[in-house]
Amino acid sequence: MSPIAVGANPKVETCCAHTKVPEAHVTKSSPVENLVLTTYPEDSSPIPLSWGATSPEARGPVVASRYRNGLAKHNTIGAHAGSYCVYHALAVGSKQLDPNHVADYTNSQPAFSIPENKSWYNDKDIVAMDAFGHLTPYLFDEVSKAEDVEIRPTIAITKATMQLIEMKEAVAEGRLKVDGNVVLNENGDLSVSKVAVEPVWYLPGVAERFGITEDELRKALFEDTNGMYPELVTRPDIKTFLPPIGGLTVYIFGDPKFVSDPSKKLALRVHDECNGSDVFGSDICTCRPYLMFGIEEAAKEAQNGGSGVVIYFRKEGRALGEVTKYLVYNARKRGGDTAAEYFHRTECIAGVRDMRFQQLMPDVLKWLGITKIDRMLSMSNMKHDAIVEQGIPIIERIPIPDELVPPDSRVEIDAKINSGYFTTGKVMSAEELKNVQGRQWDNFE
Ligand SMILES: [Zn+2]
Repeated sequence: MSPIAVGANPKVETCCAHTKVPEAHVTKSSPVENLVLTTYPEDSSPIPLSWGATSPEARGPVVASRYRNGLAKHNTIGAHAGSYCVYHALAVGSKQLDPNHVADYTNSQPAFSIPENKSWYNDKDIVAMDAFGHLTPYLFDEVSKAEDVEIRPTIAITKATMQLIEMKEAVAEGRLKVDGNVVLNENGDLSVSKVAVEPVWYLPGVAERFGITEDELRKALFEDTNGMYPELVTRPDIKTFLPPIGGLTVYIFGDPKFVSDPSKKLALRVHDECNGSDVFGSDICTCRPYLMFGIEEAAKEAQNGGSGVVIYFRKEGRALGEVTKYLVYNARKRGGDTAAEYFHRTECIAGVRDMRFQQLMPDVLKWLGITKIDRMLSMSNMKHDAIVEQGIPIIERIPIPDELVPPDSRVEIDAKINSGYFTTGKVMSAEELKNVQGRQWDNFE
């Protein structure tokens, strides 16, 4: 009998807070013995967690770690730190990290405040991050000590200076003015307030955003990851999950308090990771130029008395990953690389054209207290629709200026415009897209 089969619910002996799993349910096969494969509600006493409750105390902390008393008391499936959770396991496995290490958070508190708002206190507005994730060591320190469980922050808030060659050029060309506040000097250095967020999913809310049942979501997450999280099946009483995916970073230009002030104008870019362009300057897409345009416009909005926000999501290559992306590049370049075939090449390899799923993206906007977006620096209809569906109006949409579109990326941008991306310019017909051709490679193997 499979130890993790649904309905398998052995009698488990509980001693203190630690759970002992009976022989039949502990794997004895090589290579690992005496391993607890999963937990069951009857054997557990999870620390109460009530998503959307009307106070942080009533909501309760997100507790994922199995260490110390966590095996019986955790109230969240998965592990902290998104995809980096595996490195934590390596550090423990290689005996470089004591799994029972107790973090000392002295002086690590937020460098500025995000004003709380009503979206922090209901179970609909925010389902993909912990609204109190930056405050956990302070709100729940006593719970952590009394219950002897690890309660980790999933949000951190700090400040930085940003140096980008494009901003230096913007100052040199007179588009950005040095004010010593947002733009610090002639090098175009920008003062920025930033927030790192790791995902925390409230499973019923995530399922609702996708229009599926919670059971369907749990089944897909369990099966499609080859059974990586048996508790998705055995712990229907646990409603939160830390997915092993990338998080996001919020970059705020100007006074962070202005972001949620409806009397101040807000410029916003929501950007999905494209390492090849964002960091390494590949000219096959518009990602870095649009990101830099977004940062420049965000800084200008802050200088004009409003605020600018750029949110960077770790969703490499439309969340298909860089390997898939490069395979698609090769297929495009060997196939003539026209705008007409742009999405088709991705669909051939990945089965879909995009896996970014913007349904969960607006949560961070709600968390920030954003109630309207004056200038949206994005052409994506998917991002636009997701934000508007969550009740945040977008007043103006601003496409990437034509002169910023790199040489080899007309294929991408024209194909996207044809598929529904916003433009103030020309929407090409399917026939015209056949004539939009990318750079040809002459050195194929
Ligand atoms: Zn790109």
